[in-house]
Amino acid sequence: SASQALKAMARDEQMKAQVQRAEGLYPLLLSAAKRFVVGETREEAISEACNLLSKGYNVSLEYICENIRDIQDCISAKDEFLGLIRIAGQANLKSTVSLDLSYMGMNADPQLAYEHLLELAQEAERCGITIMISAEESTKIDQILGIYKRIGERYANIGITLQAHLHRTVRDYLDIQAYPGKIRIVKGAYQEAADVALARSEELNERYLDIVEMIVATGRPISIATHDETIIEEVVKKGYLNQPNVEIEMLYGVRPERLKELKDEGYQTKVYVLYGVEWYLYVCHRLAEFPPNIYKAIADMANP
Ligand code: FAD
Repeated sequence: SASQALKAMARDEQMKAQVQRAEGLYPLLLSAAKRFVVGETREEAISEACNLLSKGYNVSLEYICENIRDIQDCISAKDEFLGLIRIAGQANLKSTVSLDLSYMGMNADPQLAYEHLLELAQEAERCGITIMISAEESTKIDQILGIYKRIGERYANIGITLQAHLHRTVRDYLDIQAYPGKIRIVKGAYQEAADVALARSEELNERYLDIVEMIVATGRPISIATHDETIIEEVVKKGYLNQPNVEIEMLYGVRPERLKELKDEGYQTKVYVLYGVEWYLYVCHRLAEFPPNIYKAIADMANP
């Protein structure tokens, strides 16, 4: 399918290098990418965050790390997040910063990832920033939860993302039920085997809604992170979005008109803003998961 081809292309390092070298093509692609990625620098991210906050949205920020090869890359990634937290704090943006523990060094050295997260958590607390730990492949969940639990009991400003598609998620939620941080519920972006996860389906939507209901009932802060209209209508109808600790969060550039409607209706809305020079893979994924975006991207390239 077009989607598989795009994902394969995105992972092809040679193809990527050619695209980045091709005279004239790189800026064109970047202009198309700007539908989903605000820019390459943290200053651009902060500037867009200020813009969104002034319009009444809350904001999550993420620095795109795609090419993490060694410990030094993990340290650079951690330093970028540290810089991001500091300037977001200086600008008094009460925003969220999201990160993958893999990029903090978890795969090679879980203790290092723990130390990186601890350093970021301390700085974030000082700056009034919340950190959300992203969800990754199912094989990494035990490690991610382990690190979260070590830090989450000391820092209420650290939250975690759970994937409704994984069969283990309700158990994981119960395991971290006593921790104070926010939980973000997503469907799950990774391809997983059927014995590990549900595919996109009505059953998955029902499970998603059950998990949301379970968390909303406790009053714990929750982010309902989805673009799925069926889920959105249901959480509006059930009144979840009227509760103080509940927000709806969407990726920058995906269904912005729907998020605006929800904001205008008075609900707490959050935009997930990404920046960084490694935007290429991220953008290919966004195009691949929803093919009509490919046509929009081509139109953007024709009229930058
Ligand atoms: P889907 O069933 O994928 O899509 C439902 C409908 O939404 C589609 O039919 C379409 O109308 C619309 N839609 C979906 N995607 C697009 C698009 N790109 N462009 C236009 N319309 C679209 N996944 C993880 O595994 N780990 C994470 O840490 C993580 N963090 C996330 C944080 C946020 C704030 C969000 C919004 C998503 C995150 N995801 C994460 C991705 C998530 O798991 C899903 O892959 C993604 O949100 C698409 O799922 P969906 O709920 O929108 O429903």
